Formats: sequence, structure tokens, C-alpha cells
Amino acid sequence: MMKESKKGEIWFVAGSQHLYGEEAIAQVGRNAKEIVSSLDGAKAIPLAVVFKGVGSTPEQIRSICLEANASSECAGLIIWCHTFSPGKMWIGGLKSLQKPFVHLHTQFNRDLPWSEIDMDYMNLHQAAHGDREFGFICTRMRIERKVVVGHWQDPEVLERLGMWSRAVSGWHTLQGAKICRIGDNMREVSVTEGDKVAAEACLGYSVNGFGVGDLVEFVKGASDSEIDELCAQYEDEYDVVAELREEGARHESLRDGARIELGLRAFLRAKDAVGFTTTFEDLHGLKQLPGLAVQRLMRDGYGFGAEGDWKTAALLRAMKVMAEGLDGGTSFMEDYTYHLHPSGHKVLGAHMLEICESIASGKPKLEIHPLGIGGKEDPVRLVFDVAAGPAVNATMVDLGNRFRLVVNEVEVVDADEALPKLPVARAVWEPKPDFKTSAASWIYAGGSHHPVFSKALTSEVLEDFAVIAGIEVVLINDKTTVSELRRDLRLGEVYHHSAKGFSFAG
Ligand code: MN
Repeated sequence: MMKESKKGEIWFVAGSQHLYGEEAIAQVGRNAKEIVSSLDGAKAIPLAVVFKGVGSTPEQIRSICLEANASSECAGLIIWCHTFSPGKMWIGGLKSLQKPFVHLHTQFNRDLPWSEIDMDYMNLHQAAHGDREFGFICTRMRIERKVVVGHWQDPEVLERLGMWSRAVSGWHTLQGAKICRIGDNMREVSVTEGDKVAAEACLGYSVNGFGVGDLVEFVKGASDSEIDELCAQYEDEYDVVAELREEGARHESLRDGARIELGLRAFLRAKDAVGFTTTFEDLHGLKQLPGLAVQRLMRDGYGFGAEGDWKTAALLRAMKVMAEGLDGGTSFMEDYTYHLHPSGHKVLGAHMLEICESIASGKPKLEIHPLGIGGKEDPVRLVFDVAAGPAVNATMVDLGNRFRLVVNEVEVVDADEALPKLPVARAVWEPKPDFKTSAASWIYAGGSHHPVFSKALTSEVLEDFAVIAGIEVVLINDKTTVSELRRDLRLGEVYHHSAKGFSFAG
């Protein structure tokens, strides 16, 4: 069955040449089609995989690559050389190719037919050296790509291709994506700033500013009947505290929250945006800091960053798309406060309000509490815990001459005790490899305090994403030591400063 292709599709191209006769090329095509139909049907690969033919001449290969560039459906390509496919034939195509690709190093037949094998068989099934020739030309041209090795029915191979195709879908969705920065930055904060021109040139999304008054116009446009309906929906979906219910003393605050949600949705629809930021320092005309509204918009796939953090908003949007269909959930997060007990150091992650309910362990509670900053009325918000299990934190920082993605694998744990007085959604985690190494590494790498937290994605997807984006990635996991990480950061400065000079195309 064909999968939904709105997040883009993957094109499959098999390399060959005319040396072995037309029947051999026809056989390559038939075998490739069988592989494609298997990949397309694989549950591990969320995007449709489409066969785009056998590339057996430089002209054919270049034409497929140009077609891929022009196609709004093509998110990326899988390339495999069934037979030997001389690398020089690929130069023109690869030089023009602007879509990411994965090199699948596989072989049609899994097993060697020991008693039957002859030279015809050898000539047809020679990915073993055909793919090495293809690998050379990619490396010779300094083209970053992922190489996946193994038989095409091997579940581990499907898993690797699936991770890569998720990264591709995240990349694809960012191209041309619009992020609205409502209000500007939290005053004096550094890490949430950055070069929006560089982001658009390098990562494909645009960030434009809007006065909060532009949003307020949409909030005013929400009708009473829409607000009634949304408040009823809240009662269906959440444990709404008595004071906020229809008969409750503070129901009007819930209506204000609903009005903000309706306005924010309408605003983002009007701007055709997939992500946004807010700042508590610019709320003129809004009764509350948007909390509940932001939580629900994140649940629906919007990217969000607080305090003007547009890089996190874009990264969250990309990660939401990458995680589609997976269990877990993905949210804006903040490293908020620590538990530094000698028996085990932990991080309590939360934000003033804006944590996505997709990571909630149960039915969220809808509550109202005072907020010490922003100078507005008490905001409504969802409060919940996050279940134990593996997760990742990821942050995109702007180092002035480039972007860096920092990824830390963490283990979510249960809170030691109940947190009855904490009026916000929260997660407790133990970072890998250990708290001290993780925090020192993150800090040396310049990681922000606003990670995107995901229980759905793994560091592999994010590493693939960074390769596709052509940006630096710093992984903090079980293998990390501070001294090696610092060495890698120093080497990375040199590499990333001069990598453009090494690149084939300049
Ligand atoms: Mn914050």
C-alpha cells in the first residue's frame, strides 16, 4: 500500500552501465523495482519510495538529478549501484543535485549461490565493487551523505533508511517554511538571537517579525460561539479544575485563554506559518501570556520557541515532522532546575508554561496560577508529568559563522516525590553519559537552555538531519568524555571554517 506522500517522497535510482548488454540493464531495473516495492511497503520507512529508473549514462543520471531538484515532491534520493557504474558518469549529476541522498550499499541476492555461481552472475551482482566506485566519486567530490550497508530486507537496514527518511522529511518541511516572531527577543538574551539571513540561506526557512498588535487583532476576532465550543472541548480533553469550569469563579480566564488560542491559530493560518515565538516582554493587548494556546498548537505540530527563540521554533517544527507516527512526543523544553544529590544528579525540565502535551504521561490538568513575570493576568496552562524512558534534547545554536546542532541522549526518570506545588508541566531526566559530563559538554558546545525534547526521536535522526543540512553536529551520549569533546570542538572550528574551501563545487 502506498504511504502518504505529503511530507515528500524518496526517489530510488539504480546505477549501472551499458557494458553488460541491454538484458542486464533490464534485469537491474526489474530487481530495483522489487527492492523499491519492498522499501515502499516497509513500516520503518514513513515516506513513499518511488522508482526513478536505472542511471546508465552521464546524460540520464544528470537528467534524473535535475528532475529531482525541480520536483516539489522529491525530498531525497536513495542511490545504489547494482552493477559497476563508472563514477565519472555521476559527476555532472551529483554536481547539480540539490536534494539529499543516502547511498544504500546492498545487493539484490542475499546469499551467494555457491554451487551455481558463474561469470554472468558475477557481472550482474557486483554492488560490492560498483558501490565502492560510487563511494569514491562522492568522497572525491566532498559530498556529505549517509551510507547504509546490508541486505535490503535486513530489518536493521530498513531502520537506518527509516531514520534517514525521517531526517529528510524534517529537512523537506523546512524548505520555504515560515516562522513568525511575534514581538522580538527577550531583552539582552544572547542565545535566542542569531542570523536570520544565514538561517534562510543555510536551513531554508524564513523568520519574520510581527508586532503583538497584529496578533491581538485576530484574538479580538474570536466569536463567543467559537469560545464556547473550545471551552467545551477543553472539558472533554483535560481535567479542568473547578474554578475554570463553566460554573467556576474564574471561568472568564479560561475563555480568555480560548480566545487567545483561536486568535493565534487564525493568525498563523493567515501568515501560512508553521512555527512562532512569543515573548513575555511584549504582550500589549493580550490578557495573559499565551500558555494553553501554545501547548495545544505544539501538539498540533507547530514549532514554538519562547522569548523570541526562532531557531528552537524551527527545530521543533522539523522534529515534529520527523517524529510523525512514532510513539513518544516532542516539545519545547528548558533546563530549569537541578537535583544534585550525591546518589544521583537529575535535571528538572519545564518552562513557565509552554510544554507540549504530546509528552504527557496521562490526561493533563488544566489549571490557573499566578505568573510572576509579564505583568498580566494569571495564565491558564496544562500541567502534567512525563513518563520514564529514553529521550533526546537537541538545540541549534548560531556561532556567528555557522550553525551547530547539539544533541544529548537522556533518560527520563520518575520524580523522587510528588510535586504538588509545581504549577507547570515537567520532566525529570538523567542525562548521558552522566550529569556532570553532559552539562559540561553542553556548556562547552554553547548549547542553549531551550532544547527541543523528544521521546520519539533518536540521536541518529538528528545526526542525519545535520548531515543533510550541512551543519555541525555535537553528540553527547554514553561515549562522551569532556576532554575528547573539547578536542572535537576545537577541530570542528578548523574544519567548519575551511570546509567550504574543500568542497568540490566551491
Ligand atoms: Mn525560556
